[in-house]
Amino acid sequence: MVAPGTAKKLLEARGMVLGPQEGGRKFTHWRYSRDESGVVWLLLDREGESTNTLSEAVLTELDAVLDDVHGLQARGLVIRSAKAGGFIAGADIRDFRGVDEAGEVEARMRRAHDIVDKLSALPIPTIAVVHGHCLGGGLELALACRHRIALEGASFGLPEVLLGLHPGLGGTFRLPALIGPLEAMGMMLTGRSVHARKARKLGLVDAVVEERHVEAAVRAAVEGKIKRSRPRLGVAVFNLAPARRMAAKRMRAQAQEKAPQQHYPAPHRLIDLWEKHGGDARAMQRAEIRSFSTLLCGETAQNLMRVFFLREGLKRLGRGESGIERVHVIGAGTMGGDIAAWCAARGLSVSLTDLDPKAVARAVGRASAFFDKRLHGSLERRDALDRLMPDFSGDGVGSADLVIEAVAEKAEVKRKVFESVAPRMKPGAILATNTSSIPLEILRQAVPFPERFVGLHFFNPVTRMELVEIVAHDGASDETLEQARAFCGAIGRLPAPVVSAPGFLVNRALTPYLVEAFTLFDEGVPKEVIDRAARAFGMPMGPIELADRVGLDICLEVALMLRERLGNTMPEVPDWLVKKVEAGETGRKAGRGLYIYDERGKPRSEEVKVAEGGAAARSEAEIADRLVLPMLNMLVRCLREGVVADAEIADAAMVFATGFAPFRGGPLHYARTRGVDAIVNDLRALQERHGERFAPDAGWEALKG
Ligand code: NAD
Repeated sequence: MVAPGTAKKLLEARGMVLGPQEGGRKFTHWRYSRDESGVVWLLLDREGESTNTLSEAVLTELDAVLDDVHGLQARGLVIRSAKAGGFIAGADIRDFRGVDEAGEVEARMRRAHDIVDKLSALPIPTIAVVHGHCLGGGLELALACRHRIALEGASFGLPEVLLGLHPGLGGTFRLPALIGPLEAMGMMLTGRSVHARKARKLGLVDAVVEERHVEAAVRAAVEGKIKRSRPRLGVAVFNLAPARRMAAKRMRAQAQEKAPQQHYPAPHRLIDLWEKHGGDARAMQRAEIRSFSTLLCGETAQNLMRVFFLREGLKRLGRGESGIERVHVIGAGTMGGDIAAWCAARGLSVSLTDLDPKAVARAVGRASAFFDKRLHGSLERRDALDRLMPDFSGDGVGSADLVIEAVAEKAEVKRKVFESVAPRMKPGAILATNTSSIPLEILRQAVPFPERFVGLHFFNPVTRMELVEIVAHDGASDETLEQARAFCGAIGRLPAPVVSAPGFLVNRALTPYLVEAFTLFDEGVPKEVIDRAARAFGMPMGPIELADRVGLDICLEVALMLRERLGNTMPEVPDWLVKKVEAGETGRKAGRGLYIYDERGKPRSEEVKVAEGGAAARSEAEIADRLVLPMLNMLVRCLREGVVADAEIADAAMVFATGFAPFRGGPLHYARTRGVDAIVNDLRALQERHGERFAPDAGWEALKG
C-alpha cells in the first residue's frame, strides 16, 4: 500500500522520458515521434481521461498507428503512457456493460486480438516502458512487446477474475509462456498484482530502472544487449497433458474453496482452458476469446461490473479536499485502535488515547503488525508508526482537525467524553462518533457546536471493510458532511451518506438477518448449518460467525435498541443472548461466543450448547430466505423512509460494509432480478408461518419502477 499520490508526485518531480516532443504525428489518443537513433516513441494519452484505459477506439487507432510505424523502417518501437499516474489500468469496463450477445462480443474480441497480434509480429524490437499500474488489457498489450522495462514502483497484474472474467486479450497464453504456467495461473486466478522487483524475479520484466536510466535501457533493448527474460525451468513439463491434468485438479480444489463455481465461474473456465490447450498458443487464443465472451455476457460478470461502478460512485462522493491532517482517536479498543492505525497508514498524523493505557499499548502493537503486513519497505513502516502517537494524557485533542470517538456504546459515556473534549478542540475542528446505533440527535445535545458534529461509522474489521457511513443529523452543516466524505476519500474508504435513524442503514438491515439466525438456532437448526446456508447464498461468512466477530455485546445493544424502536417488525431478542453477554461470552474477542475460538481466533469445532432441540431439517435455500428476505425488506423500508437517498447507495453500502454476495450485484439488485412480486409473495408466506416481522413493507411497489 502506497500513501495516496506518492508515486504520482515522484514521477512528476522526476520528469518523464517520453522521446522527442517535436514533430511526429498526433492521433486522438496516441502520438508518436522518431528520435535521432531511429527509434519510434509511441505514447498513449487517452483523450478526456485522467487514466489510460483500452477502449475500442484506442485499439482501432493503435491499428492505424502500427501500420504507420511499420512503414517507417524504425529501429525499434517504445510504447509508453504519457499520463503521470501509470501505464494502462486495463480495458475500459464501460465498453463491457450491458452486453448480452456473446457472438457479437467474440467478433469484437477477434478484431482486438488481430491488432495486438500485429504488434507482437512487428519485425523490430518492441519495448513497453511501464510506470505505475499496468493491469488487465494494459499488461496484455505490454506482453505482446518483445521487452518490458519497469520503473521503480510499477505494478503488474491481470485482475479480470475480480470482475468475473479471465484475461481476454492474449494474457492466458502470453503470460504462461513468459513466466511459466504455475506462476501465471496463480496471478490470473487470484488477480493479485506484483511489484516491479517481483516482476523482474518472475521474468515478467527484463529490467527495473529509474526514470533517468530509461533512455539507456531502451537503447540496450534496441541493440539486443538487454537479456530477455526466459521462461522458468520446468515449464516444458506442462506441455504434457497428464502434468496439466494433475496441476489443474489442485487448482480447481483451491478455486472452489475461494470462489465456488456456481457463483464464480471464471477461475474454473480459466483452469479448463489451460488444462485443455496449455502450451498451444493458437488453440488457447481461440478458446480464450470464446470463453471470455461467454463470461462477459453472464450474470456474474455483469453483476461484478455493477459492483465496480457502485464503488466508483461512492468514490466520487469522497472527492475534494477534507482539510484534515491530524486526527485524534478516543478509545483504543477494537474499532478506535484500528481506525487510528488505518489513518496513520494512509499518511495522517494520529494521536490515540484511552482510559486504559494497556488498551493503547495493545492497539499500537496491533498497528505495528498491520504495518509490517501491509506496507512495503521499512521506511514506510517506520513513518507510519511515527505518525501514530500513543497519547496517554489526551493532549492530542487540541491540535486535531478531526476527533473520532470510539468508546463504549453507551450514550452516557459518550456524552461525558464530548463534554470533556469539546472545549479543548481547536476552532473549526470536527467531532465525529463511531456509534453503531445511538441516534445522533441524542448525542449532539452534549456538543456545543452540533454543526461540526457527525457520525463516522466504520465497520469491523476496519482494515478490510471499505465502507464508512457518514451519518447526518438535523444540526450538521453541509460543509461538515462534505469534509467528512472527503476525509473518507483521502484515507481510501468509501463514504455512504445516511441520515440518523435507528441503526442507520447497514446495521438496521443487518440486524434482522443476524437475529433471524438466532431464532433459527433456537428452533434447533445447528449453527454450522445456518452459516453454511448463508455462505451457499454467497455471503463471505455466516450470520453466527459474523455475530461472534462483531461482538455479541454489540449485537445485543443494537438488536434491543431496534426492537424497542421498531417493535414487532424486528425479531425478538433471545434471552440466552443476554445471559451470554452477562457471562462475558461476547464472541471472538472473548475467545468464546456461539463458537469457541483458539488463540489465533479460529473457531474450534467443539459444540457450544446454548439451545436444545432436534436439528430441524431445512433446505439451504429455505434457511437463506429466512435470513436474507428480512434484510431486503428492511432496506426497502429504509429507502421509503429516506434513510438513504437511493438504491445504488444502499446496494453499495451492503456490499462494502458486510460483503453481501458481490456476484449478486447488491441486495436490491438481487431483489429486482428475482422479481419484486415473487419476493413479496415469499415474504407473505413467511409472515403466515412465522409472524409479523416478515410482513412486506409498503416500499416494495416503488422498487418496481
Ligand atoms: P471496545 O470495547 O473494544 O473499545 C472501547 C474502548 O474505549 C476500551 O478500550 C475502553 O477502555 C475505552 N473507553 C471507554 N470509556 C472511555 C473514555 N471515557 N475515554 C477513553 N476511553 C474510553 O469497543 P469497540 O468494539 O471498539 O466499539 C467502540 C465504538 O465503536 C462503539 O460505539 C461501538 O458501537 C462502535 N462500533 C463497533 C463495531 C464493532 O464491530 N465492534 C463496529 C462499528 C462501530
